[in-house]
Amino acid sequence: MSKTAANLKAELAKPTTDPLLPADNEGSALTLRLKKYLKPQDIEQVWEAYRYACHAHEGVVRKTGEPYITHPVAVACILADLHMDMPTILAALLHDVVEDTEITTLDIKEKFGQQVADLVDGVTKLDKIEFQSASQAQAENFRKMLLAMSQDVRVILVKLADRLHNMQTLEVMRPEKQKIIAKETLDIYAPIANRLGLNSIYQALEDLSFEYLHPMRYRAISQAIMAARGNRKEVVSKILDAIKHQLGHFKIEAEVTGREKHLYSVYKKMTSKATPFSQVYDIYGFRVIVKNMPSCYMALGALHALYKPIPTKFKDYIAIPKANGYQSLHTTLFGPFGTPIEVQIRSAEMHSIADAGVAAHWLYKASDAQLTALQQQTHQWLQRLLDIQSESTDSLDFLEHLKIDLFPDEVYVFTPKGKILALPRRATAVDFAYAVHSDIGNSCVAVRINHELAPLRSELHNGDHVEIVTGSIAKPNPAWLNYVVTGRARAHIRHFLKMQQSTESSHLGERMLNQALRALHVEPSQITKEHWQKLIRDYGVKKKSEILSDIGLGKRQNVMVAHQLVAMTDDHVEKHTKLPASLLDTITIRGTEGMAVQFAPCCRPIPGDPILGFINKDKGLIIHTHDCSSVRKFKLDPDKWLDVEWEPESTRLFKTNLCLTVANQPGMLAKIASGIADAESNIDSVSVEEADGSVYANLYFTVQVKSRVHLAELMRELRKIPDVVRINRAKSNVKGNSKSALQ
Ligand code: MN
Repeated sequence: MSKTAANLKAELAKPTTDPLLPADNEGSALTLRLKKYLKPQDIEQVWEAYRYACHAHEGVVRKTGEPYITHPVAVACILADLHMDMPTILAALLHDVVEDTEITTLDIKEKFGQQVADLVDGVTKLDKIEFQSASQAQAENFRKMLLAMSQDVRVILVKLADRLHNMQTLEVMRPEKQKIIAKETLDIYAPIANRLGLNSIYQALEDLSFEYLHPMRYRAISQAIMAARGNRKEVVSKILDAIKHQLGHFKIEAEVTGREKHLYSVYKKMTSKATPFSQVYDIYGFRVIVKNMPSCYMALGALHALYKPIPTKFKDYIAIPKANGYQSLHTTLFGPFGTPIEVQIRSAEMHSIADAGVAAHWLYKASDAQLTALQQQTHQWLQRLLDIQSESTDSLDFLEHLKIDLFPDEVYVFTPKGKILALPRRATAVDFAYAVHSDIGNSCVAVRINHELAPLRSELHNGDHVEIVTGSIAKPNPAWLNYVVTGRARAHIRHFLKMQQSTESSHLGERMLNQALRALHVEPSQITKEHWQKLIRDYGVKKKSEILSDIGLGKRQNVMVAHQLVAMTDDHVEKHTKLPASLLDTITIRGTEGMAVQFAPCCRPIPGDPILGFINKDKGLIIHTHDCSSVRKFKLDPDKWLDVEWEPESTRLFKTNLCLTVANQPGMLAKIASGIADAESNIDSVSVEEADGSVYANLYFTVQVKSRVHLAELMRELRKIPDVVRINRAKSNVKGNSKSALQ
């Protein structure tokens, strides 16, 4: 089953023994391969898929001049060599049908079942992903993305076989295109094949890529190998005979072959270690394949008795397998002519894993559990593999790695520039925005996912192309905290909100403190830096703004702080006694203070209303109208109340409540709504009070107005509407909602 890259290439370049022989002929290359491990009725179904694909691709010719169908047949042959199960072979035959013809995944499902349809769909999706950036880290992310998108490992196997055949027929492409495809193969697909342990495909992909990327170097090395091979022939056969004889003497059944490094690995060794070709290549390699694991160690003993081993070169990959599951004994011996001989010793099963990797694991269980077991999902398949392998803890590592690769906790998405970002599963567009840059996160307003506008809370999926739309005055929204999953996004949003809140509250706190100072006949300018520093020390805080923001948030009383500051100035500051306190002790409310100032929902004050401020320990300053019932109730606690007034020039809109009594007839709501719009106001909410059988109904509106003047205009406008009987400003919110904001 072992093939050198060159053999494999030669064999696969001709997928059919006779190019005129259709694949559903008993003697065709595909059928000959399938007969080795599939039942006759399964082969019938493969033929069915072949005829279906033939029909779909009819009349289409490849760049090579051959009918298109030769490509899917060749891909199926590659997979049949790995003894892949029937759904995989069917998917291989149909893999380009959805992408290139009118046929849909649904058609495939109806004809060949869900599993085959899913595999074809998976391959079609992978084909749409384009690799753009070539940096090392990006290539790794791209490989992970491909694996993550595959869901079922068989999808990636079909994709690798597809790529292998495309590489084998690359000579018909333009040279620039050849280089691009070869580079992508070397960067992306060959490492995936290696990771999955698909050694023969891996080596073939590397050698073919090398041939197109560096034709001169490829030719030089392959010529050097040819020349060296001639000189070596005699030596190799002598050693081969000696080994066979020795093993026979010890009654060890074994298959012994001479072995060559694949071309690209010779090149890599030459460049990475700056070793001349002769040194890299002047090593004789042999492979001994025995029946079972104990025989490996017996063979090792026999060979060590034949030639002296180099002690430092011995490696036991049976006891400690490589990360991709590779198991073998490696030993280097002093050969008869003083040349080192490298020998690999392994069992037949280890060899099939070394050669076919994941596919061999697949095959191993498939023969055990019959084809029905193959209907299962890949993760179940992996779980079963874990069970099989559980005797050896080290092969668990390989499967764990593979599992992480195939079912990662991450999603991989593209930035507009084609970079790939890895984000935790369930990450949203907001997480993406913060992952790109905190400024992008802080100013994001919407997102385009795969070029379509989507809400910021949208979850991202593998392969999504994500583009954030930002706004110059956009700010993080506290609601984002409900759905972001990355710590980075969470931390940035929290930080921003905290900063914003403390700036707002410290501005308010400053005004409140100044008010209290003036009430004590001290001008704020009379408080010096030294006074503040003493206060900061006394309070054990870090800076002045912390004290101010505490005042703004109601955590400290402005009067208390003012008294302490004034006490410090007592010795040397002369208080103004002339200033009438009543004129100075009000705070101006702009309505733009944000979270530090709130407008009580019970009375909904608007500019023009006489107002009072109530200091709430948690919520900051809450503004009520003078005549609000809450004010009367809580007036008992005068320390908590502040005189406040409106800033004359406020441009924002304030919410207030209106109650309209209207004739109970259709169309009233629409008329009123348009009246409100005419008065340049907005409706924030509306509710209707059921009037049982009455000819009148009560409508409650929360509207947005600039001021009392604006409200008066609005009410005048609404009165003009016939059938509006009465309009009142409602000081308590819509029925049932009279909860005081003081609580
Ligand atoms: Mn293809």
